Amino acid sequence: MLITCAICNNDINTADLVLSERPLGKLIKVFYTCPYCGAEYHVMWHNDETKELQKKLDQARANNDTVAFNRLQSVFKKKLDKLNNR
Ligand SMILES: [Zn+2]
Repeated sequence: MLITCAICNNDINTADLVLSERPLGKLIKVFYTCPYCGAEYHVMWHNDETKELQKKLDQARANNDTVAFNRLQSVFKKKLDKLNNR
């Protein structure tokens, strides 16, 4: 998918974007950076709790543990939605 940078107007292929993270107080800011001008675009907020859940989700997926995965995913989504005011 192509998106246009609002700062430099270059087209960016979202497949080329690498997400970065930066701790900000109790939160972790997830963002990507325009490869042309370096403008930062906020993606979402995480915190230690959602990061931990994401780790467990990855583990459950790696173990093909569908039951644990589905249970964790619903908790993960709720926490993330709350954190991001969705
Ligand atoms: Zn740009």
